[in-house]
Amino acid sequence: MKKIIRAKAMGFCMGVERAVAIVQKIADEKEDNAVTLGPIIHNQQIVDKFASLGIPAVESIEEVKEGRAVIRAHGVPLSERKKLEDKGVEIIDGTCPKVIASHKIVQKYSSLGYHIIIVGDKNHGEIKGLAGYADDFDIIGNADEASLINPPDKSMVISQTTIKESEFESVCRVLKEKNRNVIVHNSICSATNDRQNAVKKLAGEVDALLVIGGKNSANTKRLYLTVKEMNVPCWHISTVEEIPPEISSYDTIGLTAGASTPDWIVDEVENSLLHL
Ligand code: SF4
Repeated sequence: MKKIIRAKAMGFCMGVERAVAIVQKIADEKEDNAVTLGPIIHNQQIVDKFASLGIPAVESIEEVKEGRAVIRAHGVPLSERKKLEDKGVEIIDGTCPKVIASHKIVQKYSSLGYHIIIVGDKNHGEIKGLAGYADDFDIIGNADEASLINPPDKSMVISQTTIKESEFESVCRVLKEKNRNVIVHNSICSATNDRQNAVKKLAGEVDALLVIGGKNSANTKRLYLTVKEMNVPCWHISTVEEIPPEISSYDTIGLTAGASTPDWIVDEVENSLLHL
């Protein structure tokens, strides 16, 4: 029989778990007047399950006419909240408390006249949400982009909660060289680092590794790349059906999962491996 070892930190983070629990509670109430603003997590099975229970995901605020709307863990810009309020839609806030803390920091410094520099992926919902709390801002993705801006004396730099610590440090180094008065607020969430550190340790203990999570989940992809860089045989799968046949040639198999992968999918994969 195969030996299966799970990473010490894996799967749902606190913010995702909380958002999913909020939608589950609505489903349990059996009222069908709620939608989620975008998929509640990057996991199609969960999104489909809630849709079948009467809580579909909508692509835009324009599609929400009435009833209740659940905001996802990575939050929305202030203007979108206002639009919902103007429509008389009840907001059910699934924004992660750590993201809310970042909103408050941005709002505070912005109200004091600071230029806000946001470090992260400009297409990510969390970054769009953060920018929505700033009056005057730049969004930069890396140190090269940081070298192209000239931060004024009153500048505050903050990051997406899920970027790499080393990326944020290199951006801050460039900005500080340009203007030593730049204020740095480190808002990186430990959940990402915990999962990265756990998978690195696990990769040293197993013959091969499966990373379980949605194909569009950025944090799952990063876990996969980390293992690949360590030259450990590794596959990124999203369901039990995608277990590669080659895995049967390895005795000790590691498992990790992205922040939007529910435990039951990991359980299914583990059970299947135990019966190879
Ligand atoms: S990664 Fe951290 S900040 Fe982002 S939703 Fe999860 S707990 Fe919240």
